[in-house]
Amino acid sequence: MGYEQGQEEVLAVLKTVDDPELPSVSVLDLGMVHKISTDKGRIFITMVPTFAGCPALDFIELNVKKAVEQLNWVEECEVHFSFQHQWSTDAITSRGKEQLKKHGISPPPENYRHGEAWTVDCPFCESDYTSMENVFGPTACRSILYCNSCKNPFEAMKPVVSYTNFIYKGPEVSEEP
Ligand SMILES: [Zn+2]
Repeated sequence: MGYEQGQEEVLAVLKTVDDPELPSVSVLDLGMVHKISTDKGRIFITMVPTFAGCPALDFIELNVKKAVEQLNWVEECEVHFSFQHQWSTDAITSRGKEQLKKHGISPPPENYRHGEAWTVDCPFCESDYTSMENVFGPTACRSILYCNSCKNPFEAMKPVVSYTNFIYKGPEVSEEP
């Protein structure tokens, strides 16, 4: 197993592990995977939690570990969450945003700044003539809205702003010496 092929396979697996609160959006597309290090058959993955206090962290950790260990050349996968960087909704990939929309969840606004008014486009008809029905949706990260144009209720993901200047550009991959 070559090093690069191994990294590709780990990334491919991470695309199949979904956030339990946002089915169909992978941990990779959510921008949660910050670092992947490999040392032959041992993989170390550093992730950042999406929403602070997200109760699904243990579950995600276990799912990532189990999925990566399915690769026959992987002996062990260690996953840990780092609180060094803050996750923001800007880390969600365009593929992740498309997946949210397909499931009727309006993706969070881009480059949102704290305190700004938050306008939400309807994921069905793209109209911005929408109104907030309930800021507290089925999970802490979602709100329920109503589209006044196509008359559909829908959910929207709340924007999360990072207070650090860190800009996520995808997972960093490295090989341990
Ligand atoms: Zn609509």
